[in-house]
Parts: sequence; C-alpha cells; structure tokens
Amino acid sequence: MKKLVLGLAVGIFVLNAGLYGALSREVASYDIKARLIPATRTIEATGTLTWTNDSETAVSELPFHLYMNAFKNNRTTFMKERGGLHRGFEAGKDDWGRIDVGRIGIAGGADLAGTMVFLRPDDGNPDDQTVMQVTLPAAVGPGERIVLEIAFATRLPKVFARTGYSGEFYMVGQWFPKIGVLRNGAWKCHQYHAHSEYFADFGAYKVELTVPDEYVVGATGRRESERKNADGTKTLVHVQEDVHDFAWTACPDFVESRERFVLDDPPVATEMILLVHKAHLGSRDRYALALRRALEFFSRSYGPYPYATVTLVDPAPGAAAAGGMEYPTLFTAGTTSWMPAGVRLPEMVTIHEFGHGYWYGIVASDEFEEAWLDEGINSYSEVKAMEKYYGEGRSMVDIAGVKIGDSASQRLRVIGSGRFDPVLKDSWSYISGASYGANVYAKAAVMLLTLERWLGEDVMARIMRTYYERWKFRHPTSEDFIRVAEEESGRDLGWFFDQVLRSPDRLDYAVSELSCREVNEPGGLFDTQKGKPAADGRARGRAGEAAKPTSYRSEVVIARKGEWIFPQELLVTFADGRKVREDWDGKDRWKRFVYELPVKVVSAELDLGRKLLLDVNRLNDSRTLEPERGPVRKVSLRLLAWLQGLLSLISL
Ligand SMILES: [Zn+2]
Repeated sequence: MKKLVLGLAVGIFVLNAGLYGALSREVASYDIKARLIPATRTIEATGTLTWTNDSETAVSELPFHLYMNAFKNNRTTFMKERGGLHRGFEAGKDDWGRIDVGRIGIAGGADLAGTMVFLRPDDGNPDDQTVMQVTLPAAVGPGERIVLEIAFATRLPKVFARTGYSGEFYMVGQWFPKIGVLRNGAWKCHQYHAHSEYFADFGAYKVELTVPDEYVVGATGRRESERKNADGTKTLVHVQEDVHDFAWTACPDFVESRERFVLDDPPVATEMILLVHKAHLGSRDRYALALRRALEFFSRSYGPYPYATVTLVDPAPGAAAAGGMEYPTLFTAGTTSWMPAGVRLPEMVTIHEFGHGYWYGIVASDEFEEAWLDEGINSYSEVKAMEKYYGEGRSMVDIAGVKIGDSASQRLRVIGSGRFDPVLKDSWSYISGASYGANVYAKAAVMLLTLERWLGEDVMARIMRTYYERWKFRHPTSEDFIRVAEEESGRDLGWFFDQVLRSPDRLDYAVSELSCREVNEPGGLFDTQKGKPAADGRARGRAGEAAKPTSYRSEVVIARKGEWIFPQELLVTFADGRKVREDWDGKDRWKRFVYELPVKVVSAELDLGRKLLLDVNRLNDSRTLEPERGPVRKVSLRLLAWLQGLLSLISL
C-alpha cells in the first residue's frame, strides 16, 4: 500500500508540473529577463505581462504597483508612516531605492509611456510614486487578454525592509511593475505602506536571471535551465505556475544544500533548497528539521504542499532586515552565529514563513485590507506546529529552567495591546506598528486558539481544512472564513467574530466578589398568626425545637469588565466538597449567585477548561475565600495566588 501511494504521489507530482496553471485562474502572467549589475546595485530588465480581464467590466486603465519607489526618498508614504527611520539609512545618499519604467506598450501596438500617471488612492501624498497607471487606447473587455511589453530598471536600497542589498547579499522582492487586482469592477491597487503587505492575481512566471558567475542564486519556482556566459556571468531560468509573485536572492557566500522531501499521506514530493550563509552553518540542521516539520504539518493539517520546490534563504549577517519574509515557494528565515538550542527562533521563523506559503501564497487573501486572514491564521498555524514539535508551554524558549510557549507569547502581546484598533481594518490605518502587530497577528491567532478550545479540536481542524480546500487559489475574505466556521461547527458564530474582528475592546470576566456569612437565627419582631408580636421576640413559636444547625449565606458575583460578551461557566465549591455549576449568558455587567447552605463556600472559578485565551486577565478568573488566619499567612497566600496567576500567563 505504501509503495502504491508513493507511486501515486510521484504521478500527481508530474501531472501537476505538466498542467500549466491548472490550480488557479491565470490572470497576470509575467515573462521577465533580468540582469543584476552589482556595481550599481541595479537590476535591468525587460519583460511581458499577459493580463486577462477576469471581471464583468471592460477597463481601459491599468494600475501598477511600483513598490520599490517606497524607498526613493524620505517623503514617500512608506517612509513617513515608518517615522523616525534608522538614521544610518537616511544618511547614505546612495542607499535609496527606486524603480524606473523606461518603456511600456502593447505588444506590437501602442506605446503607453506617454499616458503614465502616478496615483495616490490612500493618502494623496504627492511625493509617493508607488502606484502608476497607464491608459489603453481601447478597453479590454471581460474575458479578453492583453500583452504588454515593459522595460524597467530597479535600483535596490540598502536593505532595511525586506528587500535590498547588504554587501554582496541581494534579496530581490517587490522589484518589478506589478499590475493591481480588478475585483467587482474596481481596481485594488493600494500604495506601499509601512505596515502593509500585498495582494495580487495568480499567473505563470518565467524569469531569466543573469548574475555574476560566482553568485549562488535562489528564486521562486523550478530551475528550468542554467548556462554560463562568456562575460563571466551565468543565466538561470526559473518557471512557476499558480503563484502571484516572484522573488529571488543572490550571494556568493550562500552554501546551498538540497533535499528531497516525500510524504506518503497525503502525497507530497518536493525539493527543499536551503541557502544558508556561510557564517550561519551552525543553524542549518535546525532550519532543515524545522522545514521538514513545517512541510509535514501543513500538508497533513490543511492540504498537500503543491509546488515542486521550497527555498529557504538565510540572510547574510547585517541583512537581518531581509529575514522573516515570505514569497511564493521561497522565504527568508533568520538566525545568528550564536543561537542557543533552547531559543527556537530559527525554528519559529522557518515554520512561520513556510506557513505563509499556504495563507499568503496559496489562499492569497488581500493583505492590504484583511491582513489577519494571512498573518493571524498563519500565527495560529505556527503556534499549533511549534507546540506539536517543540512542546506545549516551552516551544519558544526552553533554556536554564525558563520555559515560554508560543501561545503564551501570543497572549502576552494581546494583553499588552491597547484598545485602539480592531483586528479587521486597512493595514495602514492602525495607530501604530505595535497595534497592527498585536491585532493582526496575535489577537487573531488567540481568537482562533480560543475558538479551537471552545468548539473542540476536531471541529476546528475541520474548519481549517475545509477553508483551505475550498478557498485555495481563490482570494477569500473574512466573510468566507466565518461562513466555513459556521458550517463546520453548526453554530451561529457571527456574534463572536463581530466582536473580535470589528471591535477594539477586550474580553475580561472576573469573579469580583466571594463572601460568606453565618445566617443569624431570626431576630426582631415578627407577626404571629394573630397579628401580634410574640412576647419573646422569636419568630413563629420555635421554642422547644432542637437547636437548628448553623446556616451560611454564600455570595458570588461575576463581573464583565470588558466590552466583549462570551457565555460563562462558573464552578462554586463548598467546604464539604460539593460543587455547583452555573451557566451565565455573560450579557449584563454583573451577575450574583446566592446559596444558603449548612456549609461555607470555599472558592469560585470561571473558565473551567482554560478555554478563553482571549480573556486578558486570568488572575481575576477565580477567588478563594480567605481562611481566617494571621495576616502573614494571608499575604503569603495572596503572593502564591499571584505567582500562580503570573505563571499561567507564560506557561499555559
Ligand atoms: Zn508573518
């Protein structure tokens, strides 16, 4: 059986390679010939874009992202939003980047260069040139295809944000004119922002790269050919269908290693290509193991990895700003020459960036407008994979007795974030980069972890698998995710997602009061049956009865301290060991529970299964009735409770 499955795997693999663009709608395909000129840090390129109007609307204006112009001067939208940029960078006048489109026209037809204008749809900043538009002499109708010829030169910046050079290391991303996305008759082509990533249509890429012969090159897709040229350069051709971007890297100091990765169930056959800088070879085995685990985890949890290659790029020392970034079939990791084994940064970055290959790369939602669908879902996947392979509660740090798990570190980011922004809004409209990160990555991830604990792991696994299977290569929105979650769980979840995705508040329920007092024997004046007070003031003639056992009135108050509403389960424990379970819809600001029993209440506890990871304060989730002891003991008990609470924050 095993052999049969393996044979099938190889068969599918070959078949996939032969079906040009079979997995996605091939809307924007590029064929580029590029030459790296190290002396000027420039890429000179010519190419064609074949674009299909996949909408119902005819268009005669085509907008393009010119991402590299974000690095052109200190007045661009990217630079202004970034604020107080590294002084070292601004000081170097040769460190700016830019892209110049020299020629753009219809293949065999009109020159469009004269129609080029810059657009600033998001902020009107006249110094921003990251979106350019050309006007066609005639509209492209629904289903029609147009081929444009483009010549451009890209001057790389000294790397400080994902792309650029450092010494002889080159990471080349966002480097060619990239057409916007036409959706429902309107173009989506936002400016390049400091805290926003990308959105593009799928297509087939063929890119010919010419670099000095001594450079080791990595790029999106399969290497179709490689030849040496007489001028001391070499030319490599890479091809890849079903992707929406193309990135590459070159450095003479990479040590390349290749490894075949094969999985029987589900069938996966791909080539792992590791480009590790020679200064970081100590991390190579860690990268390789993490990448194998990532391939296995994502293939088994969501669906088989569909591409023939995956390339891990380890940036050169000094180029860490290029690290931790994803591109189709290629990602950049990050390490140091001295990384201790118990600090799992290379592992986490490898798993995280590989994971983007699924959510950014294959599912491909709009990162400008709904970044959580990539970063949040991917951070959730990262937590799942890290805790599976590196241990719950110690997956991030496990060194000298200090243990920190990935889910706890995501939770800490949520706790530390202010109530400024919701998870779902335009990426550039957050109050700060920290708020963008805390919401889009951490809060969205903790939202999904909460959902998983609440609905159950099986239901959550079905949600994720169905979402991936249904929406891969199709650019889903938040509503599409919610619909799948509701279908698979059989529940209305709109109220849950509405709060977490759209409201900047938080979840915090507390046991705000726990008290107990002895119920007095009835005292005072009570009317007798004849309407006259009893002579001794005792009620209803109980004289002669045996002494009644002492009774206690115990009270528990639960309070909702945040705006978000979530049903609560309360467990009240009494001195004789009896436990009472209470359910509350959690809607009011508070709810009191009263018990009159012959025993005292001991404790009251919320969130019994530790499901609500979104609850920002777990120290107030339970209370114990303080025993009547000396003050020293009280203080030590409180300290202990506080320490336990604190520990529960960092090791769940
Ligand atoms: Zn990410």
